[in-house]
Amino acid sequence: MKIIDGKKIAEDLRVNLKKEITALKKRYSKVPGLAVVQVGNVAASSVYVKAKTKQAQDVGIRVFDHHLGEDTNEEMLLNLVSQLNKSEEVNGILVQLPLPKHINEEVILNSINPEKDADGFHPFNVGKLSIASSNDENLLIPCTPYGVLLMLKELNIGLVGKNAVIIGRSNIVGKPMLQLLIKESCTVTVAHSKTKNLEMLCKNADILVAAVGRPKMVKGSWIKKGAIVLDVGINRIIENRDGEDKNILVGDVDFNEAKESAFAITPVPGGVGPMTIACLLRNTIIAFKNSKKG
Ligand code: NAD
Repeated sequence: MKIIDGKKIAEDLRVNLKKEITALKKRYSKVPGLAVVQVGNVAASSVYVKAKTKQAQDVGIRVFDHHLGEDTNEEMLLNLVSQLNKSEEVNGILVQLPLPKHINEEVILNSINPEKDADGFHPFNVGKLSIASSNDENLLIPCTPYGVLLMLKELNIGLVGKNAVIIGRSNIVGKPMLQLLIKESCTVTVAHSKTKNLEMLCKNADILVAAVGRPKMVKGSWIKKGAIVLDVGINRIIENRDGEDKNILVGDVDFNEAKESAFAITPVPGGVGPMTIACLLRNTIIAFKNSKKG
């Protein structure tokens, strides 16, 4: 059984991205720029924004930090996005979600210039992903599912014809994961909250991607012998460890049970999570390179 080390794969990716930025700087006398926009002070968002900013700077991306107050209204945020859309220095724009309730997230995400859409959430990029050929390197692809795909590719097993089951149909994980795995010629089933016989579906999966948000929902007995298990879920729970109640992170898969049957499995933490930020940096570089074309 192999534990897929997301930290290491993400680190290797960042080393390559850093080299690429050095080469781009030589060629264009400029480095890619990423605008990071946060509204309000949700603690988890501040942690993500800090990590994204640090990792972007570490690979040589120039970060433009825009931290706005909770009382920012939709018009003010649209004005900022409009300025960033026009800025020559900014190649990627990231608006950290969730936004405060009085701001419509869809309106804001759709106002980002698709060419600067660092998260790959804009309908234009979603559409492009669904019709693109499998070797299209210029796409801005949602970071988490793309990170999952890179982890799968690291295993060097053929993906063609494999039965893949994705649990979860969100716009940020499940749906783009479907597109990516279809492009790899997997046979894909997407399960969701209304799916019947989930256990039976999972038992037939050569590749199982869990993106639900329910701690340890997927049991070891659901895993086919030799399957590859990619656990996107991040759930904080209290668990007794060595006689002490501890606040810990777990995935959507019962890792200790599943590892008995799996050929390879991602841990939580240290699996899919680190890949997400690395893929955000990759998108920023792609947006920079796309801006230099034609
Ligand atoms: P979401 O809430 O938008 O979607 C959850 C999906 O799970 C829905 O499509 C729903 O239909 C499905 N679902 C709910 N209950 C189910 C059930 N009983 N059986 C089958 N399907 C069920 O969540 P999301 O944004 O896609 O995130 C999913 C999980 O992944 C969360 O834990 C989130 O924190 C995590 N996440 C991690 C990363 C990362 O970088 N590792 C990135 C994004 C999300």
